[in-house]
Amino acid sequence: MGMNETAPAGAARAAYAAFHRRSISDREAFWRDEAKIVDWHTPFERVLDYSRPPFARWFVGGTTNLCHNAIDRHLAERGDSPALVYISTETGESRKYSFRELHAEVNRCAAMLKALGVGRGDRVLIYMPMIAEAAFAMLACARIGAIHSVVFGGFASASLATRIDDAKPVLLVTADAGMRGGKVLPYKPLVDEALSIARHPPRHVLLFDRRLDPQHAMQAPRDVDWAALAAGHRGARVDCEWLESSEPSYILYTSGTTGQPKGVQRDTGGHAVALVSSMRRIFSVAPGEAMFTTSDIGWVVGHSYIVYGPLLNGSTTIMYEGLPIRPDPGIWWKIVEEHRPRTMFTSPTAIRVLKKQDPAFMKRHDLSSLRYLFLAGEPLDEPTARWAAEALGVAVVDNYWQTETGWPILSAQPGVADTPRKFGSPSFPVYGYDVRLVDGATGADSATGEKGVLAIAPPLPPGCMTTVWGDDARFIRTYFETVPGRQIYSTFDWATCDPDGYYFVLGRTDDVINVAGHRIGTREIEEAVQAHAGIAEVAVVGVQDAVKGQVPVAFAVVKDPARLDGPGGAAALQNEVMQTVDRELGAIARPAHVHFVTLLPKTRSGKLLRRSIQALAEGRDPGDLTTIEDPSALEQIRAALSGSAAPS
Ligand code: AMP
Repeated sequence: MGMNETAPAGAARAAYAAFHRRSISDREAFWRDEAKIVDWHTPFERVLDYSRPPFARWFVGGTTNLCHNAIDRHLAERGDSPALVYISTETGESRKYSFRELHAEVNRCAAMLKALGVGRGDRVLIYMPMIAEAAFAMLACARIGAIHSVVFGGFASASLATRIDDAKPVLLVTADAGMRGGKVLPYKPLVDEALSIARHPPRHVLLFDRRLDPQHAMQAPRDVDWAALAAGHRGARVDCEWLESSEPSYILYTSGTTGQPKGVQRDTGGHAVALVSSMRRIFSVAPGEAMFTTSDIGWVVGHSYIVYGPLLNGSTTIMYEGLPIRPDPGIWWKIVEEHRPRTMFTSPTAIRVLKKQDPAFMKRHDLSSLRYLFLAGEPLDEPTARWAAEALGVAVVDNYWQTETGWPILSAQPGVADTPRKFGSPSFPVYGYDVRLVDGATGADSATGEKGVLAIAPPLPPGCMTTVWGDDARFIRTYFETVPGRQIYSTFDWATCDPDGYYFVLGRTDDVINVAGHRIGTREIEEAVQAHAGIAEVAVVGVQDAVKGQVPVAFAVVKDPARLDGPGGAAALQNEVMQTVDRELGAIARPAHVHFVTLLPKTRSGKLLRRSIQALAEGRDPGDLTTIEDPSALEQIRAALSGSAAPS
C-alpha cells in the first residue's frame, strides 16, 4: 500500500490532513464545535485556558456531569435500547440493561454511596472483577461528583495499599471474588491485608457478594454488604452534581520508571467531549450501534471504551468476563453474532492467542455486523494484523495511545476519512494532537525518516491527563521536562515517520516494559523481587515473547550464595521469588525466569546496564560497553542464560 496511491486514497488523505490541520491551527473553534456533542448544564465561557502551561483547562466555566451524559440524556430517545450487555463465561451469567434499567441501577448505587458518606470530591477506590456492578459503581461516583480510582483486580495487596495511601479514599468497593479460567480468586483477603498495611484506610468497604467465596469474612461496622444496603434504596433517585469542566472525574494509576505509581487525573468536560468525539470519528460507532471492547475496567481501555465512551455516545457496550478461548475459542465470535457490534477493540496479544486456535471456530459464526477491529496497547506485528484482517474480513486498525491520554494519539480515523493503512503503522496523528518527533539529545525536531522521541506539543487536547493526582510538580517534571530546551510532552516512546506521514512506534525510551499490552515498570518489579529477604540486588528486563510481546526476566544476586546449594537449590528460591512478586504486585508482573548471578553489569557510576542485559537475553549484541565497570558481569549473564531454556 501507499506508494502508488489511488485517487480515492489521496483524497482521503487530504481530507484527513485538512481536518487535523484545523484542529491545531484553529484549536478553539475546532473544539467549540466538537463540544456540541455533549450536554452542558451551564455553557462554558472559554474553550481553553492555557495561561499556566503546561496545565490546560478545557471548556472553562462549563458545568456538566458524566453520568447524565452517559445515561440520562439518552432516556428520551433510546430509554429501552440496550446500554450494557454483560456476559460472563466464568459464572455463565448474561444480563442486559437498557438505558432506563441502567439509570435505575446507577441511581440506586449513587444513593448507597451517599448513605455511606461519600460526597463530591471524595475518592472511591473500586477493586472489582468484571461485573456489571463495577460499571454501576463508576457511573454512580460520576453522578454524585465523587472521584473513582479503579485498581485492576490482578494487583496484589501491597499495590492496592500504595494506591489507597495516595488516593485516600473514603470508601472501597469490592466483591468477594473474581474468577479466571474457572478458578475462584478471592478478593476480600487481599482487601483486608491491604487495609491492614495502609496508612489511610477508608471508613467503609462495600462488598458485592457473588457467592463465589463462601469463606469471605465481613468486619462490622466497616464492611457493608451491597445487597443488604441496596434493599433499602430501591427506586432511589439521586440528582446529578453539576461539575465544572476541570473538576476531576477519576484517577487511574500507571507505572513509570520509579516504584511509585502515578495517579493519572482526568477532568470531566474535556473527557466527555474527547470520548464521544472519538467514538464517532475514530471508532466509527454511531448512537444505537454496539461496541465490544475486551479489556478490563482496571485499565484505561476499559474506562474509555467499555464504560464511558460507548455510553456517552448512546451506544451499546458489551462487557465480558472470561478468557477468549473458554468454553471454546469461538466465544468472542458467538458474542459478535448475537449482539452485532460494529466495532471490536482488543489487544494484539489476544489475537495472537486466537490465531493459534482452529479457524473453524471463527467460520461458524455470522460476523457480518463487524466493520472494524481496533488493536492497541502494544506493537502490532504484521502477521497478526494480516491474519485478523483476512480471518475476520474487517479493517484492522492499529491505534497507539497511553493511560495518560485516555484516547488515541495515533490512529486511522475512519469516521473522518477512509485513509489506507500500512502494516506495522498506527497511521497518523489524531486530530487535536500536535505530534512531533524530537531528538532526545538536542531537543530539535527530527528530520523525516529519522528516529525520534514521540512527543506532543502542548496544550494536550481535551480528555488527556490534567495532572498527577496531588502532585503538579511531578506532572511537569515527569512529562514536560525530559526534552532539552523545550517544554513538550514526552510519550517515552521512540518512533519514525515515513514520507507518506505514517508513524511507526519503535519501543520505549525508558525502563518500562509491556507485557500482554500492560505497562509495567521494571523498577517496580525489582522492588518487589527485593522484598524477598534472600535477594541482595536484582535487574529486571523485558524479553521478547511470541505471544505476550514481552515478558519480565530477572537477574538476581543472592545474599547468601550457599542458599543455592541448600534444599531445593536454585529452583526453590526461584519459586519463592516469583511468589513474592505475585504477593507484592500481582501475577501479571511475575518474572518468566529468575536467574541467579553474583554480579550485575553496571557502569562505573553504578547505573544498571539494563539495555545490555536485555540484548543478551534476546540474543543480540550488548552494544557499547566502554562504560562497564566489570566485564565479567556480562559473562555471568551469558552463562546464566545458556544454563537455562530460553524464555518461551
Ligand atoms: P498503557 O498506558 O499501559 O496503555 O501503555 C502505553 C504504552 O503502550 C505506550 O507508551 C507504548 O509503549 C505502548 N503502546 C500502546 N499502543 C501501542 C501501539 N499501537 N503500538 C506500539 N506500542 C503501543
